[in-house]
Amino acid sequence: MIGVTVLGATGSIGVSTLDVLRRHPERYRVAALTANRDVDGLFAQCREFHPGYAVMADPAAARALETKLKAAGLPTRALAGPAGLEQVAALGEADFVMAAIVGAAGLLPALAAVRAGKRVLLANKEALVLSGGLFMAEAQQHGARILPIDSEHNAVFQCMPPSLADGLDQAGVRRILLTASGGPFRQKTLDQLADVTPDQACAHPNWAMGRKISVDSATMMNKGLEVIEACWLFQARPEQIGVVVHPQSVIHSMVEYVDGSVLAQLGQPDMRTPIAHALGWPERTESGVRPLDLFEVARLDFEPPDLTRFPCLELAYRAIEAGGSAPAVLNAANEVAVEAFLEQRLPFLRIAQIIEETLNRVAPMAIDDLEQTLEADRVARETAHQALARRD
Ligand code: NAD
Ligand code: MG
Repeated sequence: MIGVTVLGATGSIGVSTLDVLRRHPERYRVAALTANRDVDGLFAQCREFHPGYAVMADPAAARALETKLKAAGLPTRALAGPAGLEQVAALGEADFVMAAIVGAAGLLPALAAVRAGKRVLLANKEALVLSGGLFMAEAQQHGARILPIDSEHNAVFQCMPPSLADGLDQAGVRRILLTASGGPFRQKTLDQLADVTPDQACAHPNWAMGRKISVDSATMMNKGLEVIEACWLFQARPEQIGVVVHPQSVIHSMVEYVDGSVLAQLGQPDMRTPIAHALGWPERTESGVRPLDLFEVARLDFEPPDLTRFPCLELAYRAIEAGGSAPAVLNAANEVAVEAFLEQRLPFLRIAQIIEETLNRVAPMAIDDLEQTLEADRVARETAHQALARRD
């Protein structure tokens, strides 16, 4: 039996992960589940999966969960806060850890899993944007295998040769082509983008996701974060990564080789495919995803991204090229701006402006350790909040 901890179990990725695990009770056992403050959601999952531990990031929620677990006579132990999250990420009973907390809050638990040498199924792309160099170095040092869950990176992983130990050039890889759906506003004009609402931004045409990543998809910052994520996962230079808008989201990404071959991974836009792939790897396992019907798809379209309407993508390239703390600053400013947009305190088009202003104000620094990373994150959040206050 393989023990699995699911960090962020009540979220979109967490729920899809449990759906795949549910199909293979003979192979996987849930070691621990975590959530922020959705007590009822986590309790229901505990009742079904009987994990050894359940962690609520919020201490009051943890107490409420503990009461419910006891009343129901369930064996699950309730833990609280960041220490609880890190504890279950490094748990002896957990062989695999699904890192599916959203945002920078997911970094420390994911890092704890890496340091414990787990197989880390990485959905939390912000962890890599924030601290890719450190994260990958720790994985190497502790023998942790990182398997990408982001559908694009999972597709790229599937299209890559078995070993990238000597780098992309040695492997004959010329470029990585990340596909992007273009999000819900692909066809909107700049004028129309001025007054779009959070609910419109969260109504993604192809994928059902959490609200933060949905807004990222609408601004195309999601693709920017994914460019940075791909640089770290595949040791790629930013100029080796291209972005192709592909509205059907059937090709999940591609790898172009020096001989002209382009390998693509296709499938339904359903996260259970990359999740099942990473759980089963190097074998294949059932995911519950409907087979792809190419006649139903009928056609595949491609277009270049429009950086005038979606400047976030360019800001992300700028940050990874600047290096050091710049991607951490980009990520923090984005989290602050997206939260303000979701709370209807910031118009959609201002998201990119807040991020650009923060990048301009916080000079990039070299990052050597976790403390410097967290400090860059903190300074950038403060600066982004100041930028927000100036505009309010
Ligand atoms: P979500 O908002 O649906 O779920 C987030 C989960 O994290 C929830 O379980 C929540 O309780 C928990 N959480 C939130 N804040 C927390 C905090 N401060 N401390 C501890 N736990 C906290 O998000 P999601 O869509 O499932 O995305 C999760 C991650 O996966 C994100 O990094 C996202 O970019 C990435 N991702 C998601 C998808 C998708 O289809 N949803 C696809 C690719 C990548
Ligand atoms: Mg993605």
